[in-house]
Amino acid sequence: MKYGIRYLLENIVRIGSTQTRKYFFKRAKKRMCSVSSQKEYLKYKEKARTLVHDRMRIYSQFYGFTPEKIFMRNQKTRWGSCSKKRNISINYRIFFLSEQQQDYVVIHELCHIQEFNHSKKFWALVEKACPEYKRIRTELRRQKIH
Ligand SMILES: [Zn+2]
Repeated sequence: MKYGIRYLLENIVRIGSTQTRKYFFKRAKKRMCSVSSQKEYLKYKEKARTLVHDRMRIYSQFYGFTPEKIFMRNQKTRWGSCSKKRNISINYRIFFLSEQQQDYVVIHELCHIQEFNHSKKFWALVEKACPEYKRIRTELRRQKIH
């Protein structure tokens, strides 16, 4: 705990120059931010996990196939992915999408279990549960992942 916030704050008293003081405050603040955003991340990750499992259950029944495992991830560039081992990864940020968009992401990855590509057959499969997939796909492409 040598570099903990408490250590930094306690030592500020002993620091002479304003510059150094500013630096220490900045360090302490940054540390607090990162702790709180990690907490936030874990909170939303769990909320996202619950909703993904619920939707996956519904659409697995609809299609008749289920993923082996579902992983929640913190990805910068994609909403989800599916491995050949039938493992599906979903971006925790799915929590912040609209219900329709959430459904689409789940359906898209689930359909990759059957069709491991983006062929016409794949899109026909997606369309069965998500007739508006084209519009939603465009919406998601416009949406930046932060
Ligand atoms: Zn895909």
